[in-house]
Amino acid sequence: MLLPNYEVYAIKYATRDARRSANFIGGDPHDAPMPMDYYVWLIRNAERTFVVDAGFTAEVAAKRKRTFVRSPREGLAMLGVEADAVRDVIVTHLHYDHIGTFHDFPAAQFHLQDDEMAYATGRHMRHARLNHGYEVDDVMEMVRMVFKGRVQFHAGDAELAPGVSVHRIGGHTAGLQSERVHTGRGWVVLASDASHYYEHFETGRCFPTVYHLGEMVEGFDTLRRLADSPKHIVPGHDPLVMARYPAASAGLEGIAVRLDVMPND
Ligand SMILES: [Zn+2]
Repeated sequence: MLLPNYEVYAIKYATRDARRSANFIGGDPHDAPMPMDYYVWLIRNAERTFVVDAGFTAEVAAKRKRTFVRSPREGLAMLGVEADAVRDVIVTHLHYDHIGTFHDFPAAQFHLQDDEMAYATGRHMRHARLNHGYEVDDVMEMVRMVFKGRVQFHAGDAELAPGVSVHRIGGHTAGLQSERVHTGRGWVVLASDASHYYEHFETGRCFPTVYHLGEMVEGFDTLRRLADSPKHIVPGHDPLVMARYPAASAGLEGIAVRLDVMPND
């Protein structure tokens, strides 16, 4: 059976300055600026629409001193997607920069790994080192979503539609999941924070926010196994994504890029 193809987009909603020393365990011998971009992603074809992650709000951006560009909802609207109508939001993990505008998706089911909800509500959240990436209000609201029947739980690998699947990677958080999407150029993998930057999976070095280092480094292999080539892996926070892929359409330069076509580098 022929698998359907999907369009895939990265939509930038925020950014911040950072340095190389802050982005690798053990620092970096050539410390230099290494800014971080924040994205949500869109997977769609004529039949289905999946939004991957929900970013953060302007309020949380101010609190955490991030530079807010526009809400994920506004970015999606620029691609013709009305957040009110979205039925499926894949949540790669519950960190503040991936779930914060869930209330902008009133009709959505949230796809989440069992391990992520257990982690975000369990004993490890007693520790500042492990809880700093979460906003407790977001986690509380997602528990309410469970009671409303709006969380679809997955354990490991799961197919959400022909050509769209989620894969538990862990590492960065206990239940981090990446997505595999069938496109006109083959299997594209949205790593999210399984690899914050290209350099992480390319060199095997690790981002300092980590729950399980072993799963994080194993995860780099999983990304390679799921993707048709390293050029099919899209990292979660790298500004190079905006540079390597073409704008989603004229006028969306610097706002959204198309990932289902080959990158220029
Ligand atoms: Zn993140």
